Amino acid sequence: EVPVPGKVSTRYDLEKETELRFEVEAVEQIELELLTGMAEVFGSELNRNKKYTFGAGAKIAVFTWQGCSVNLYGKPEVAYVSKDTPMLLYLNTHAALEQMRRQAERDNERGPRVMVVGPTDVGKSTVCRLLLSYAVRVGRRPTLVELDVGQSGVSVPGTVSALCIERPADVEEGFSVQAPLVYHFGSTTPGTNIKLYNKLTSCLAEVYSQRCEVNRKASVGGCIINTCGWVKGSGYQALVHCASAFEVDVVLVLDHERLYNELKRDLPHFVRVVLLPKSGGVVERSKECRRDTRDEKIREYFYGFRGLTFYPFSYEVRFSDVRIYKIGAPSIPDSCLPLGMSQDDTQLKLVPVTPGRDLTYHVLSVSSAEDGEEGARKGIVESPVCGFIVVTNVDTQTQVMKVLSPAPRPLPRHTLLIMDIRFMDSK
Ligand code: ATP
Repeated sequence: EVPVPGKVSTRYDLEKETELRFEVEAVEQIELELLTGMAEVFGSELNRNKKYTFGAGAKIAVFTWQGCSVNLYGKPEVAYVSKDTPMLLYLNTHAALEQMRRQAERDNERGPRVMVVGPTDVGKSTVCRLLLSYAVRVGRRPTLVELDVGQSGVSVPGTVSALCIERPADVEEGFSVQAPLVYHFGSTTPGTNIKLYNKLTSCLAEVYSQRCEVNRKASVGGCIINTCGWVKGSGYQALVHCASAFEVDVVLVLDHERLYNELKRDLPHFVRVVLLPKSGGVVERSKECRRDTRDEKIREYFYGFRGLTFYPFSYEVRFSDVRIYKIGAPSIPDSCLPLGMSQDDTQLKLVPVTPGRDLTYHVLSVSSAEDGEEGARKGIVESPVCGFIVVTNVDTQTQVMKVLSPAPRPLPRHTLLIMDIRFMDSK
């Protein structure tokens, strides 16, 4: 065994059905190597004698069904072995879903549409990743629907999206994100514009259903929907709306009995609502940690994984060449609304934004809506986005702004949607 120079190595021998959990400190890097036996990280199998690197802030579980030994190189913030994991329950859930897919195949029906819900930090994203990786490992082509606008696993924060899963998640990088379908929401909590949030959920459901009609594998594979951790009030209503828009068959409730009972009460009786425990390994994340993850996700969009793969461009855009909108006008008291107009209309309204200094650092979505005047404006809210740019500088004198863009000039489209989210490029 050749140790990594300068790094301490610690060997762990894991019994069957146990997991090694570790966290990586802020400026550290940890390498993981499987020495004997078999093991997986969130549903993706490890190759033997290959070193996997995990960067700052990573929180990882190495689970083994049969028993294994692994080495960790470097000094993790914490590392311990746990015998108490809900993995068997998660595997059984996968087996039940797989049964439904087989039946769908036989009866020429559609596969299971599954919504994963629960408060923050119960491991929703991890359960989604696990179920998707297991499904794809047995030859299915499930779809991941990402409705968590705060911590999207697919695109930048402030978006909702759908992605066809064709291979298990990469142990280090997660799912390969090729050609996702992405919609602009604009902020990190659904509460800032719940009407828009529900509208976009419906858009995704419609596109997914259309795809299922023409693609049998996608239909049989079903979908796994990851949701936000906001489970009260309008957040709860948004979950009920999602269940109906996607016509879900199964709801997995993680660690929240009240939510489980409410959903059982409010969803049609044929929807199977299942309560699952959370894993003791799921780590609570602070506000700062969440902000850092969001920042990292935007950086990854422009620079690639670990900032190494892509080289973004920086160029100037004239104000006169683009139209910038914000979706949703500030709400006004019902009594002040013009006759015949409802609060809904204001939340889905496109409000033109006059470029100024305060645009600096904002993330803008480039809408795929055809450029054009008034007539075209109607479809903008429901149009997917084709990419994102960040405003790095605004010159009001010359009426020009500088932007960071993944592709060289010119912009593919000229309708831009502003996000509340800002990104400061430290490169
Ligand atoms: P959110 O509140 O953002 O919706 P969530 O419920 O989706 O959060 P996850 O993102 O799945 O939660 O998990 C939170 C963190 O815990 C992640 O960093 C994940 O890698 C880690 N984690 C999940 N399961 C385990 C485990 N068994 N052992 C160690 N870490 C874990």
